[in-house]
Amino acid sequence: MGSSRAASAQPSATTSDLLILGGGIIGLAAAREATRAGLSVRLLERDRPGCEASSAAAGMLGAQVEADGPGPLLELALAGRDLYPDFIAGLRAECEIDPGYLDHGTLVVARHPSALESLREQERFQRAAGWTLERLDGDEVRRLEPSLSGEILAGLYFRRDGSVDNAALVRALASAAIRSGVALHAGLPASRLIIEGGAVHGAEAGGRRFTAGAVLIAAGAWSGDVGGEGLQPLPTHPVRGQILSLAAAAPRQIVVDDACYLVPRGNGRVLVGSTMEEVGFDRRITAEGIAGLAAAASALVPALAEAPILSGWAGLRPATGDGLPAIGPGALPGLYYACGHLRHGILLAPITARLIVRLLRGEPPGHDLTAFDPRRFASRSA
Ligand SMILES: Cc1cc2nc3c(=O)[nH]c(=O)nc-3n(C[C@H](O)[C@H](O)[C@H](O)COP(=O)(O)OP(=O)(O)OC[C@H]3O[C@@H](n4cnc5c(N)ncnc54)[C@H](O)[C@@H]3O)c2cc1C
Repeated sequence: MGSSRAASAQPSATTSDLLILGGGIIGLAAAREATRAGLSVRLLERDRPGCEASSAAAGMLGAQVEADGPGPLLELALAGRDLYPDFIAGLRAECEIDPGYLDHGTLVVARHPSALESLREQERFQRAAGWTLERLDGDEVRRLEPSLSGEILAGLYFRRDGSVDNAALVRALASAAIRSGVALHAGLPASRLIIEGGAVHGAEAGGRRFTAGAVLIAAGAWSGDVGGEGLQPLPTHPVRGQILSLAAAAPRQIVVDDACYLVPRGNGRVLVGSTMEEVGFDRRITAEGIAGLAAAASALVPALAEAPILSGWAGLRPATGDGLPAIGPGALPGLYYACGHLRHGILLAPITARLIVRLLRGEPPGHDLTAFDPRRFASRSA
């Protein structure tokens, strides 16, 4: 895979440079990036592109707001956030779908003393690392977002953490990928990898064999299900997140506390998220989940208690055994993984795509990927 082809490389009927299994934001972003690098790409999606976690998400690009300590994930998140403006500008030039990118900052607030302590801790380690944030007292928080409860004690404002309309973004990515020559097969689940001579050469789907120079598994929470003869499956599992959509004009910007987050989406919609539940592959919403989100939302913004409910849904975040994504080569030649992004897959899609394509082309990734090496699970159980 080290050599690149002409930018217009097209896959043949069944063969390509790269075969991607899974058409969520990670698979689609990798497909687009790979065609831009001159590779011929085929993508197999079990159902519709973006139909799982990638459309269910809230779309926060919360590199700093989501960080609870220094480490490789935070480094990756910051690098990922830096790529977003160019990633969005490129997509806007390639298709007409607006991904709703808002570079408007995120406000984290504390309503009680124990939350205040974790806010202080977040501030301490981020300032020590030199990252930009603003500390606000209760009055300053309410001046910034007047809809917030009088109970708010203090807040942190992360000016560089924005958001995107993730459902629109996956539509834009699918459109851009197809226009750039990706052979995208919707409704075609990969059943197993083709493993011959100790290397991965493609995958079987719908009774057909699709061969490729390399196979990238980007099947979200289902990535561990795509296996083959003698290959230890990657340990992936789903973490359910429920979201409530309310008809409301406030808040005007993203607000997060320790019980929920509020994401205004324009058109008078506010998303309230989210639960973290280990309940298997169950995408149903529950009375307890939705009631908990509604209560947490109105504790933050009292006017939301009266807001009409527009809809509710749940998605399955892809998790690995250690909470970190798997990005890079698998145990066999020809096999790569990009999955397990849990709460950060929207934020991390552009950087993941870039890293995978650099690895495919035999280039240095430009980022330390040791912590994300998919082979870390194999060596543990060996
Ligand atoms: C409620 C909620 C809120 C979230 N909020 C945020 C947020 O604010 N910011 C953020 O960065 N992240 C957020 N996330 C996380 C983010 O949504 C995920 O990390 C990201 O979407 C994962 O993308 P993916 O492409 O790996 O997986 P998915 O979007 O799940 O895509 C995997 C795809 O693979 C397909 N597939 C499965 N098996 C096969 C097969 N055998 N063959 C072919 N195709 C197959 C599936 O149909 C699916 O389309 C949230 C997630 C949830 C659920």
